[in-house]
Amino acid sequence: MALEPEQAHYLGNVMRQAVGDFVCLFNGLHGEWRCRIEILRKDRGIVVPERQTRQQVADAPLTLVFAPLKRDTTNLVIEKATELGVTRIQPVFTERSNTLRLNLDRFSAIAREASEQCERLSVPEICPAMPLYTLLEAWNPVEKLHAAIERSGAHSPAPSSNGTALLVGPEGGFSPTELDVMRRTPFVEAVGLGPRILRAETACIVGLALLQAAKWDNRGAAAAIS
Ligand code: SAH
Repeated sequence: MALEPEQAHYLGNVMRQAVGDFVCLFNGLHGEWRCRIEILRKDRGIVVPERQTRQQVADAPLTLVFAPLKRDTTNLVIEKATELGVTRIQPVFTERSNTLRLNLDRFSAIAREASEQCERLSVPEICPAMPLYTLLEAWNPVEKLHAAIERSGAHSPAPSSNGTALLVGPEGGFSPTELDVMRRTPFVEAVGLGPRILRAETACIVGLALLQAAKWDNRGAAAAIS
């Protein structure tokens, strides 16, 4: 199996691996494989799969919809969302969004590195950004969209059996019109993340951690959660 130039560079120059060493690889489909390095040059390499070390398990669908923030903060959200088991990342533009240009390739690279670091065998899908209202129109209404809304007095998010999605607004919060549209949209459910106003990146992490913790605790009783 041929390595990408960056992978060859990473293995040789960063991880200091050499021909004959073993590495564990995954492709998101076939689990994890222990592979022997057959050839390793500066920008290319060949590895030979030897045996499977972990089976691929299907991830529970978990979507993060969020309004992109400043570049470093957005990158942090992508990394943490990956660690917290998100399967799909959907950036949305809202009225108060202050970032309109996104580097989706960079997001994919961050997600891949975070997956490797946390020993996940899949990488979340990064979807092209769209306006919030377009997202609401295109949304599959059987899937609940948990909108994190501060000062709403709403309960904390809990996973549902039809897929789980968390929506977090921009630094300036959702506009009154957006709040009104969401209030009138049946599949949108307001959720609260505690009594304090969190920064958007904290809200993403807290909301996903709450969803993941509930999912983890209720693995045996998933059907009872709605
Ligand atoms: N500037 C706004 C706050 C925006 S916080 C204000 O002062 O009113 C950014 C985003 O984080 C919000 O749009 C919301 O999605 C989420 N958020 C922050 N704190 C929250 C909380 N306590 N409960 C639910 N969502 C919260």
